[in-house]
This record gives sequence, structure tokens and C-alpha cells, in this order.
Amino acid sequence: TPVLDVEHLRKIYNEGKPHAKMAIDDVSFSVDKGEFVCIVGPSGAGKTTLLRCISGLAQASSGRLAFEGTPLTSVPDQLGLVFQDYGRSLYHWFTNAKNVGLPLAARGVPKAERARRVSEVLAEVGLPHVEQQYPWELSGGMQQRVAIARALSYHPDLLLMDEPFASVDAQTRFDLEDLILKVRRDLGITVVLVTHDIDEAIYLSDRIVVLSGSPSKVREVVDVPLGQD
Ligand code: ADP
Ligand code: ADP
Repeated sequence: TPVLDVEHLRKIYNEGKPHAKMAIDDVSFSVDKGEFVCIVGPSGAGKTTLLRCISGLAQASSGRLAFEGTPLTSVPDQLGLVFQDYGRSLYHWFTNAKNVGLPLAARGVPKAERARRVSEVLAEVGLPHVEQQYPWELSGGMQQRVAIARALSYHPDLLLMDEPFASVDAQTRFDLEDLILKVRRDLGITVVLVTHDIDEAIYLSDRIVVLSGSPSKVREVVDVPLGQD
């Protein structure tokens, strides 16, 4: 069974009201275990809407979503999320270690085990020495690494990323792209990443789902012939 199955997904904001807006019309695709899929489309194509429906942050109007074969009714526990505005998604009054450990604490992982996994995952993202520092002491790219570490701390089956590299400079973006490819290789994780940048999608992914039109539909699903790994 695929990790993620999206069938005929439609999302209408303010449904039934005069200002109703159909953001996505008929989106279908599926993601197999270990795959890296990019969702590409221009601004307004419904990419964020699609990710919010998949992550349970928004309710689809119709269609079917299944996570590891089970219809999706609430936010799956085995989902990691990384957004563009990492600066806001981290708690700046908590240390980096505490930020990364929050999902583990929420899942009742005991303190000693939590500390072990926090160190492990911060090392995985290339930040072995920042545990006792605070996010505001780090550069934007390092903060995004902390956000990625937090999403990875509980070993998610699926990592969902929404324009995760959009607000960093070009060199940092290249570094983070290579980091995510390394993480994917090391952990064998399944990734769905949204971007408006087709070059980034080609560089990162095995398969690209192209959204376009208004309301958007899947226009094309393209296999990327030369994987980077
Ligand atoms: P993208 O991420 O591709 O830029 P979005 O998913 O943000 O696209 O938006 C798709 C469409 O849905 C846009 O026309 C946008 O204006 C509309 N939209 C997004 N969020 C909302 C909302 N909360 N309420 C009403 N309309 C929305
Ligand atoms: P080389 O020629 O040494 O193989 P590449 O040209 O493949 O190097 O890439 C150099 C760096 O630029 C890579 O480490 C990668 O981070 C980044 N990079 C290359 N192509 C792209 C792309 N299309 N989009 C984003 N980053 C890219």
C-alpha cells in the first residue's frame, strides 16, 4: 500500500457562502514508501491548501485521503511537518533541545530517551552543538535545521514540507536541499515537498506532481529520470 493516497480531492473555502472559493478541484496522486515527491505549481495553485488537507489542518470538501491504507480522519501521528516560516514555528524562549524534544514529550517519551534522541537528530541535521542555545541565537538556515530536526525527532513515516527553503539565501538553500537528500537517504523517509521552483523539484525529487489552473487540477505527473542519489 502507498504511504499516501489522494483521490479526487477538492477543497472549497467558505463553502455555501457567496464568497466561496474552490482552491483545488480534482487532485489525485499517490506516494509510495521511500519516494520523494514534489508538488509544483504557481502561486495560488492550491499547494498549501493541498498540504493542509493532507496534514489534517484543513478539512477537504470532498475526495478521499488515505495514510498507509487507512482513511485519514485526524492528523496522523506519524507525520512530520516543516513550513516556510520556521522562525515562527519554533519557540524562541525554549532551548533548541527543548524545541526538538517537544513532539517526543507530547508522545510521552521519557526524559532520558528524549535527550538521547534530541542529540541524535540534531547531529543528523548537522547541528551537534546547539542544544543549550536558543533559536534566536542561530541563523535562518540553522533555525530551519532545528525545525527539520523537530519534525524528524519522532521518526515520522511521511515528512511534509511546505516551501521549506523559500526564505533563506541561495547558498543556504543549496545546503538545506542537500541536507534533506542526506536525511532521506540516511533514514529512508518518504517526503512530499511543495515548491513553486521547478528547478528545485527536479533537483530533489523522484516524481513531480504539477498543479495548475484555477481551481487547480493535477496537470501532469512527471517522473524525474535521473535521481540525484
Ligand atoms: P499556493 O500555496 O499554491 O500559493 P493556496 O493553497 O495558498 O495556493 O491558495 C489557493 C487558492 O485558495 C488561492 O486562490 C487562495 O486565495 C485561496 N485560499 C487559500 N487559503 C484560503 C482561505 N483560508 N480562505 C479563502 N481562500 C483561501
Ligand atoms: P556538481 O557539478 O559538483 O555535481 P551541481 O551543479 O550538481 O554540482 O550542484 C552544486 C550544488 O548546487 C549542489 O550541491 C546543490 O546543492 C545545488 N544545486 C544544483 N542544482 C540545483 C538546482 N537545480 N536547484 C537547487 N540547487 C541546486
